[in-house]
Amino acid sequence: MLSRRLALQSLATVTAASGVMQVQAEQNCDVFTSATQGTVTPDTALQMLKEGNDRFIQGKTRNCDLLKQLKDTAKQQAPFAVVVGCIDSRVPPEMVFDQRLGDIFAARIAGNFVNTDILGSLEFATQLAGAKLIVVLGHTECGAIKGAADNAKLGNLTAMLENIRPSLKKLNYKGVPSSKDKELVQKLADQNAKDAVDKIMTKSQVISNLAAVGKVKVVSAMHDIGTGKITWFS
Ligand SMILES: [Zn+2]
Repeated sequence: MLSRRLALQSLATVTAASGVMQVQAEQNCDVFTSATQGTVTPDTALQMLKEGNDRFIQGKTRNCDLLKQLKDTAKQQAPFAVVVGCIDSRVPPEMVFDQRLGDIFAARIAGNFVNTDILGSLEFATQLAGAKLIVVLGHTECGAIKGAADNAKLGNLTAMLENIRPSLKKLNYKGVPSSKDKELVQKLADQNAKDAVDKIMTKSQVISNLAAVGKVKVVSAMHDIGTGKITWFS
């Protein structure tokens, strides 16, 4: 019997193939199992997140029974994607992609960069837990990005921001960088998200191997905190 989740996925495949974005009107609250996760490709996973963000910005988010989902995911999880996002309170990946319990992994760190610990988490999510898509999700007006632009110094934040500074260097900014330059802040947020994808591919043999055989895709995107819209870089 074709489950509603599977029906939704095949519809997602059709819409992806035809290039037409279509918001799913159907309420689909079935949790992922390893069987349904196995039917998802990196491209359908991407399409599901795009459609989820469409539902989010149109105010048509799914209204699922979370206690039922809690019960259904208690013994097993099989998320279809993993998001590396900022800790910013306005960008919770599950909400901006309209996902529910068991749907996606989320690694959150101020400035959405990757380090050894985040890479290890991504390798767990993909190689061991079967997620098909890695999304590095940056956002507009990011405090960590502004801090890196200003070369802010504070406690452990100083060392943390060093993870973002190499992206600033790449921008070849003339003069003294400052968060007062809004265009610079956004350029740095974009560059930082794209650089995280490159770092994932170069520093993780596990993930680059999965990507080479088409089992996993790694992409970056930018969330606009004013509109809720997510723009995809790749
Ligand atoms: Zn942020």
